[in-house]
Amino acid sequence: MNTSSLRGIYKLPVAERIARLEEGGWLDADTAARLRDGHHVVSVGAADRMIENVIGVFGLPFAVAPNFVVNGRECVVPLVVEEPSIVAGLSSAASLAKRSGGFEVENAGSLLIGQVHVTGMADPDHAISAVENAKSELLAAANAVHPRLVERGGGARDIELRLFALPDGSPLLAVHVLVDTRDAMGANLVNSICEAIAPDIAAVCEGEVALRILSNLADRSLFTARARFALDAEVSAAIALANDIALVDPYRAATHNKGVMNGVDAVAVATGNDWRAIEAGAHAFAAAAGHYRALTRWTVADNGDLLGEITIPLKVGTVGGTLSSNPAAALGLALTGAQSAEELAGVMAAVGLAQNFAALRALATSGIQAGHMKLHARSVAAAAGASGEQFDQVVKKLVASGEIKDWKAREILADVQGAKTEEPDGSAAGKVILLGEHGVVYGRHALALPIPDAVHVRLTATDALSHKLPEKYVKRLLAELGVEDTNWHIDVASRLPFGKGLGSSAAVAVATARAFNAKLGLGLDVAAINAVAYEVEKLAHGTPSGIDNTLATYAAPMLFRNAGGLQYDALDLAEAPPILVAWGDETGRTDEQVAGVRKRHAQATAHFDAIFDEMDRLSRDGADLLVAGQWQELGALMNLCHGLLNGIGVSTPALERMVSLARQAGATGAKLTGAGGGGSIVALCPGTIDEVREALRQGGYNTL
Ligand code: NAD
Repeated sequence: MNTSSLRGIYKLPVAERIARLEEGGWLDADTAARLRDGHHVVSVGAADRMIENVIGVFGLPFAVAPNFVVNGRECVVPLVVEEPSIVAGLSSAASLAKRSGGFEVENAGSLLIGQVHVTGMADPDHAISAVENAKSELLAAANAVHPRLVERGGGARDIELRLFALPDGSPLLAVHVLVDTRDAMGANLVNSICEAIAPDIAAVCEGEVALRILSNLADRSLFTARARFALDAEVSAAIALANDIALVDPYRAATHNKGVMNGVDAVAVATGNDWRAIEAGAHAFAAAAGHYRALTRWTVADNGDLLGEITIPLKVGTVGGTLSSNPAAALGLALTGAQSAEELAGVMAAVGLAQNFAALRALATSGIQAGHMKLHARSVAAAAGASGEQFDQVVKKLVASGEIKDWKAREILADVQGAKTEEPDGSAAGKVILLGEHGVVYGRHALALPIPDAVHVRLTATDALSHKLPEKYVKRLLAELGVEDTNWHIDVASRLPFGKGLGSSAAVAVATARAFNAKLGLGLDVAAINAVAYEVEKLAHGTPSGIDNTLATYAAPMLFRNAGGLQYDALDLAEAPPILVAWGDETGRTDEQVAGVRKRHAQATAHFDAIFDEMDRLSRDGADLLVAGQWQELGALMNLCHGLLNGIGVSTPALERMVSLARQAGATGAKLTGAGGGGSIVALCPGTIDEVREALRQGGYNTL
């Protein structure tokens, strides 16, 4: 398997990243579906069996870094971590290392040390020689504890001794049992061996057992990873110097090694390993020479390339621990493709080196803060409500301002929105279906609201036609308008996300048609603009119902049906409804959803027709409630309609989650809107709009 199918995944929405992993064979279809639906997360019930006093489960981002080649094998690295920049830094470091062959990892065995501490010995020298003489009996006793481990090729390999004086001067003998725990991390295996043979050891030493437990200073399981990075010699030298500083200054070394562990821990968590054990071992090993120092070495090769090396204790498992009870950990482990604990440790060592490279390069060159700030600015901009194409503008201005704060993001967003509302040449509304989608395909009524002033278009005269819209779309639009003078720059500012069922393409068509109409004095009336947009919509949707362009043009609430042509009644509302729209990464394809419903309709026609009749009634009654501003009653109808839409199979776990978040936060009604299978939800929130918006944003969704 290779990771070429994962090229550029950082630009894709979450669902498409999962699809790429599935296509590349990194995830099987069932696992991909579980991940997509959020069913890979440990349940509260299972969590309650893992530890004490459970009150829930706690989420962290789960990501992948492609581009890793470890001992010639391409692998996808799973990462669970909340700190921005780590995944990006790792992916880019791995990609650079790949050009020089990737990471080479080696280890001289993988043994876990169990310790039995003996005190109260009258003659420590005699105790030492007695243990040496009894070694084979003690090893046999150790191996009798886990016969299955021995059958698997593991077991106790050797016994080593270390003599200390306690602070009061009395002798302390540390008896180390070195155990090959095969693919288990081995803490419990080794602890039980220590407990079993401790009385024998005490008897041989003529002393007393003080402690019997594994050591997390796993220096009998050292992994060394090496990589070469083709860099400018000056950058290589700066990185080597940064490393040298961390070899002599423990204050710097702590931060340096923290960077290494940013990567190692993220893989450990993602694969269900005990990251506290790994941390303890790594830092103890870093101080083993007498003072705390960097775990890595970086030198400059004759040709200016940078050569990196890390040696780190890694006693990890691909069996045991929480792997069988935490489905996400099993998924993470499967993604690595590691066939043994040693192979997994090799990946972790490579990740530690790669993460250190990414941090040192940023530190030694452009400064680590800039990268951090950009990612931080993205989350602050999203939390402030920036979406669509305004998002990038807000992020850019936020970074430039140097004030990555919520208040600043809101101020910039207001500015950007203000700037965009300055005299557009054409504008148009988006749409949100409140009731009756899918029933409308079968001739029933549906109820829709405009999203006013959603798209603004400005035209500026230039030397040639320029825009960021699909080429064929603009071509058709200009042809329908009969425009021959095409030396214009078309600037579109949209509050609507694409592909989320909010009528974005129709709104862009209407606003652009209006802009040309105004600039060139084409003299088209509203009906003509609507007709032009309908023709352009055919490019996007085949045979569109006409509702999107009609809403975009007239920007009025409408009860409509399509029975041999679009019929609609514009509604005059007493009060604007308190509506919130939300969407995530999932994108639904209208044609696929309509086809799916058609198939199910054919299988149970009478039942589906009854549902469509009910949707028709909900839409017509809903229109009266909307006009009268009866939000509680209207919300109840929206909830019913959502149930029916779920019943006909167009909801998804992500849509259900959004609906449930909205209702829990106080929405009187919440339902999917549009074709479903992804896309958006609409929530009616009298007096609770701020709470619902906050709950959805906290859930990671965008709102409008
Ligand atoms: P474990 O107790 O689950 O034992 C591993 C099991 O896997 C054994 O029953 C073994 O027979 C079985 N097994 C199946 N296939 C195997 C294979 N190919 N190789 C080896 N064993 C195989 O797990 P463990 O690894 O003994 O202990 C790990 C757990 O102990 C972690 O959850 C860790 O958090 C915890 N722990 C850690 C410490 C510490 O680090 N100080 C102390 C106590 C407990």
